[in-house]
Amino acid sequence: SRHQAKEVIIIGAGPAGAAAAAWLARAGHAVRVLERSHFPRFSIGESLLPRCMQHLKACGLMPYAEAGDYQPKTGAAFTRRGEHRHIDFRDKFSDGPGTTWQIERADFDQRLIEGAREYGAKVEFGVTVNGFRAAEGNEGPRLTLEDGRELEAAFVLDASGYGRVLARLESLERDPRLEPRVALFGHVHDGIAGLTPPAEGYHRDNILIASHPVHPDVWYWLIPFTHGRASLGVVGPRELIDAVADSTDGSTDGSDTTSKEARLWQWVREEPRLNELLRDATSANAVQTLGGYSADVSRLHGPGYALLGNAGEFLDPVFSSGVTIALESALRAMPLVERELACTDESQRPDWASEFEQPLRRGINVFREFVTAWYDGRLPNIIYHPDPHLRIRQMISAVLAGYAWDEKNPFVSASRRRLTALATLSASAHDTRQPAARKG
Ligand code: FAD
Repeated sequence: SRHQAKEVIIIGAGPAGAAAAAWLARAGHAVRVLERSHFPRFSIGESLLPRCMQHLKACGLMPYAEAGDYQPKTGAAFTRRGEHRHIDFRDKFSDGPGTTWQIERADFDQRLIEGAREYGAKVEFGVTVNGFRAAEGNEGPRLTLEDGRELEAAFVLDASGYGRVLARLESLERDPRLEPRVALFGHVHDGIAGLTPPAEGYHRDNILIASHPVHPDVWYWLIPFTHGRASLGVVGPRELIDAVADSTDGSTDGSDTTSKEARLWQWVREEPRLNELLRDATSANAVQTLGGYSADVSRLHGPGYALLGNAGEFLDPVFSSGVTIALESALRAMPLVERELACTDESQRPDWASEFEQPLRRGINVFREFVTAWYDGRLPNIIYHPDPHLRIRQMISAVLAGYAWDEKNPFVSASRRRLTALATLSASAHDTRQPAARKG
């Protein structure tokens, strides 16, 4: 067979690659991970969803993650023009964990891949994959490495994230169905614990999503970590995010980094809640930008290979779904990889389209609908509803907690119809509420 005494090769040691490697190694398969960088390395993607606690358990990496002693996360707080809302992930429609963590990825990713290594995966750092040939007949898929080596694998999993290795080498890229946006972000010493007077109604165990008071398509994240550190970012159309720039850094040395930092703080000053919370904050690392990160591929599999996590489709950061989707894809692929390794003739091969891609994409599509509804105003209407219906709030909470594959939830099985109907109702509630409130 194609698989005699060969390894599964995984490109990339981020969460998707580490979860796949741990799972396969624990099941007794030979697995090798090839990672371009040297760990620990910075990565964006720091707020997890409760759903991924199930993934970490399933691949055996939970004890390694728990040892990180991370900032617990129990929900998402939203703020817009002085209005505050809170979604508690513990109060949700679907079964499963209701809490998770906010993590610095340099540390988190290193712990996960070390865990995979302890289970027996071979991991090589500083190794870049730059060539590929799909499986053919009895020949397994082949990888070419920058160091000149050529490796034949039993099966290849592309978990290369923004590297998008097989999307490029196999010409699978297709236009993402979301508009391009840019993020400006960095880590801060947030100073929130020492504020006098203390920050009222603020809890570190929530991601804070703030909307710009004037530009509805500009939003911010504040993701608190332990030890008084936090991740801070602003997202919006490039022309807006870049525009604040140049007027503010006239007095600096003019370096790119300085102007990014000045821009980020300028944006923070424009949003009252963040401005108040972060009045004592200072930058803790260099501010960075990342744009055009939404990406998609025409298919998530081919002869002898499959694409996991961000190497396939990436949506948008607003609901922190990236790592959860990465882990979901890895764990959905594992039983199929195992069947690939066991099969002795073509007829036994799993059907990757119907058994992996279609069911995985159903949940990704739910997240995409929520992202679209965030930007077109339907979801803010729902979130800021003055008097939300309890059961409906639990259904929304379940999706935002990552349970986007639970078809029992009407906001999963019919997300577009449900979101549109509810947003229409909520909009009229806002309309009727406001005059009433004014009357006092
Ligand atoms: P990655 O974590 O990107 O890992 C891929 C690895 O492959 C990297 O280590 C890379 O070095 C390696 N690699 C690349 N090319 C090669 C090559 N040629 N050869 C060998 N190795 C290679 N997600 C969340 O869950 N929560 C958030 O709060 C969140 N916020 C975000 C904010 C922004 C602005 C953006 C853009 C994204 C955010 N995300 C968030 C998404 C998150 O960053 C990704 O979804 C997540 O990192 C995907 O994990 P992965 O394992 O697929 O890939």
